[in-house]
Amino acid sequence: QDVVNKIAAGEIIVAPVHALKELIENAVDAGSTSLEILVKDGGLKLLQITDNGHGINRDDLPILCERFTTSKLKAFEDLTSIGTYGFRGEALASISHIAHLTVTTKTQESSCAWRAQFSDGTLVPPKPGQSAEPKAVAGRPGTQITVEDLFYNVPTRRRAFRSASEEYAKIVDLVGRYAVHCSNVAFSCKKHGESAAGVSVPSNASTIDRIRIVHTSQVANELLRLEIANERWGFKAEGWVSNANYSIKRTTLLLFINHRAVESSNIKKAVEQTYSNFLPKGGHPFIYISLEIDPQRVDVNVHPTKREVNFLNEDEILEDICNEIRSNLGKVDT
Ligand code: ADP
Ligand code: MG
Repeated sequence: QDVVNKIAAGEIIVAPVHALKELIENAVDAGSTSLEILVKDGGLKLLQITDNGHGINRDDLPILCERFTTSKLKAFEDLTSIGTYGFRGEALASISHIAHLTVTTKTQESSCAWRAQFSDGTLVPPKPGQSAEPKAVAGRPGTQITVEDLFYNVPTRRRAFRSASEEYAKIVDLVGRYAVHCSNVAFSCKKHGESAAGVSVPSNASTIDRIRIVHTSQVANELLRLEIANERWGFKAEGWVSNANYSIKRTTLLLFINHRAVESSNIKKAVEQTYSNFLPKGGHPFIYISLEIDPQRVDVNVHPTKREVNFLNEDEILEDICNEIRSNLGKVDT
């Protein structure tokens, strides 16, 4: 059973950035307005995320890392209407099978913070002989999740990593995506022991300012607003896309579906095609799109890691979005 859990976890979490994505989403789901991320060795040695969200009740800690522990589905109906992707109560459980996990958390009501350590789905003592029960500690409201020695017990996975800086680059890219998308949330992401941040965005920055900070002011100065909805296909899309005066060597696509960062090669291809009529040869666009779709129409099961998604009426929705981009691009003199 333990081996099965370990293998399952290792299949879903292939790189540190995949664990971090789950942790960021949990922090955002908890209503946080500040996320601080600390990384050591590309996330293999340490991934730490500190939020100021609603925290976890002390009594919920012992089962936190059991599979399917979630506070996010109250009834079975919610299964089809929930706006979250990927794991359902499996993220922390999976992480606890392939890393050392420490959770420190304080709710607004609690008089102190509680710290607990987990391994293989259950509470474990910090040191042999000590109690495994959550320990009262001083702390501010919110949650700090510390993931150490990721894949310590999966040597083949661990050996597959060549460079910490490559993994750190993936982490910075992901944090940058959420930093653009989550307005009113402050983000910082740093390597442990360094003062220069990979990402640093204040909570009050506008979306354009977020793009300016995370990407460049060059792109931020050349953006067109995208806003479109169609009841028939049950979707709403908004975002910012580069105009025909701006082009880069490779497409930058920041895509969110129901507030989760996702990949969609279909959307990427369609948008690139649309831009190819407007940009010089070899030039590519910058696109940030936040798409809201009725969750019942979204299929997250096409890929085991659930980063690539499909949804109903994809062709129609894509056509609407591309038409809108085309008409916006056409309006600007080049
Ligand atoms: P899911 O997000 O699908 O519910 P997870 O394994 O990611 O499953 O998290 C399990 C539960 O732990 C969540 O439902 C939530 O109640 C709690 N939790 C995890 N991270 C946080 C956090 N940063 N702040 C508050 N609660 C959290
Ligand atoms: Mg989660």
